This record gives sequence, C-alpha cells and structure tokens, in this order.
Amino acid sequence: MTFASQPDFVAPDGAGIAMAAQVLRAGGLVAVPTETVYGLAARADSDVAVAAIFRAKGRPSFNPLIVHVADLAAADRLAIMDERARLLAARFWPGALTMVLPLRADAGLAASVTAGLPTVALRCPAHPVMRALLAASDLPLAAPSANRSGAVSPTRPEHVRASLGEAIDLIVDGGACELGLESTIVALRAGDGWAQLRPGPVSEAEIAALLGELPEITDLSRIEAPGQLASHYSPGKPVRLDADVAGPDEFHIGFGPVAGHVSLSAKGDIAEAATRLYAALHEAAASPLASIAVAPIPAEGLGLAVRDRLRRAAA
Ligand code: AMP
Ligand code: MG
Repeated sequence: MTFASQPDFVAPDGAGIAMAAQVLRAGGLVAVPTETVYGLAARADSDVAVAAIFRAKGRPSFNPLIVHVADLAAADRLAIMDERARLLAARFWPGALTMVLPLRADAGLAASVTAGLPTVALRCPAHPVMRALLAASDLPLAAPSANRSGAVSPTRPEHVRASLGEAIDLIVDGGACELGLESTIVALRAGDGWAQLRPGPVSEAEIAALLGELPEITDLSRIEAPGQLASHYSPGKPVRLDADVAGPDEFHIGFGPVAGHVSLSAKGDIAEAATRLYAALHEAAASPLASIAVAPIPAEGLGLAVRDRLRRAAA
C-alpha cells in the first residue's frame, strides 16, 4: 500500500472503517475520534508502526502511549488485571478511564509503547467509531492525542489536519469530540495502593469510592508517570489564568459571567467548558492577539481537570 502525502478524510461508515482498519493492519497511522480527543492510532504490536507515531508527533521516546482495547478480554491478554482493575473496568469501561497495570510478559506489544516500563496503560474507549475500528482491525491500538507533542490536543478533524496533516495516512471524520479532555489516568500498584496520574473526566472521588481512600502508604514519588510534563497543551503564546478582565493584547477566553472573546460556557457549565476548551485554545492561538487570558474556572469536579490542562498550557 502506498500512502498519500496529504491524509484522506473518510466518513465513519462501514467503508471508511474498513479502509482505516486496512491502513492500520499495514502499519499506517490513522487519526480517529474518541469520546475524549482525536487519537493518532497505530497497531500496538508493531515497533515500526509505533515508531511512526513518535516520529509524527515529535514525541520523546520516554513518554509511553496508551493502548486502546475493545473489551476486558483484550485487556486481560495485555496486563494483569487484579480485583481493583476489574472493579474499575466494570464501572468505567467503556469510557474515559486509563489504568496503568503490570504488563504481561507475553503481551506481544512493541517495547516502545511502554517506553520499556514493566507496566502498560490501557483504556477501553466508548466512542462508537473507535470501537468499530478496534473490532474491524482486531488489534490493540496505541493512540495518543493526534497533535504535535506538547501542543494543544485536537477535538475536531480540522485540528488534526492542521497539526499533523502530512504525517498521517487517513483521518476518520467523526465530527467534534464529546468530552474534549483526555482520559483520567490511574496507576494501580501491585498490592499497595493507587494514584491518579492525570485528572480527567472520571474524578478521583469516583475512583476512591470504589477502591477506598488513597492509602497512606502510597508513596507518589514511586509512581512513574513519564510524560506528565509541566509544559504541555501549548498554544504557542503566553497564557494567563484566572483573568476576570483582559488587556488589549490578550485574547480572552471567558467562562460564566466573564464573557471574553469566546466563552467556554456562558452558563458556567463545566462539562460544556471541558468540551470546548481545546477548540477555544486553537482559536486563541490563531488570533492576531499576542497572548491569551482565561477566566477563572472553579477548582472542583471536572474543573480540576480543566485547570490542570490550563496550568500546563500556561507553563
Ligand atoms: P497521552 O498518550 O499523551 O494521552 O499520554 C499518556 C500518558 O500516560 C503518558 O504521558 C504517561 O504519563 C502515562 N502513561 C502511559 N503509560 C504509562 C505507564 N506504563 N506508566 C505510567 N504512566 C504511563
Ligand atoms: Mg496528548
């Protein structure tokens, strides 16, 4: 198969999914909508295919990828799923929760997927297009966000084309992503506790309700979370947070009573704000104004995940 230098867009119908699955089986890169953000998918069992993800994104090789699976059985083949993992999967899969679990010796994943770690990050996504692609390809798919490393994540197919255009083979056009924020990542350590590595749509409180409170013996410094860098989601210009008013050179992203040039949610709905966050950052990046100011976002519930992304965008 030869791949075009500009990616083709395909509809998320039977023919489009079949073509995407074929590209993936041949070791190509496919951008695909998930309920969180657009993913850049490649077969997770191929070193060559996974290397293409790192190359396309300019992603440092120490930053491991999330592997997407169709169901619990597929997860079981890759990782050791203990009682806690099964509880979380029963409650939150398919959905926006990624679990870092002990990697099975016979998992058959490319070593670069896990950056050589003895653990693997697994997610069973809910988006019907990604689920159809997992089923049609019959492969575990490594899929980080479909943007250049460190840049703002894509929540629309146009964002993918603008960021990665010529580096990928195919974009499955599934419209806008519903949640708009990357998955929550939780690490389950053998025997002794768990930790949230990245806040997201599933809250730490919901996880704690199932697993019990964070045990005191959990030493967060022992949890390896490579890639959770201070600076990420960068729109390429300065970002100022908790700004009720903006200066003349600032593109103002509003929320609730703060109107701004665009609003994440005029009615102050944090779920709506999460969905719109990256599109607003893309718009702010494209504006002629030199910098960006963002209205205060409440530090509770999903607001914690939004603030986490904004902090890194501002760093
Ligand atoms: P991304 O694919 O950009 O959404 O990022 C995935 C993130 O998951 C990485 O940046 C890591 O911080 C985290 N991650 C993936 N695999 C592992 C792992 N085996 N151990 C700890 N963290 C991981
Ligand atoms: Mg990303």
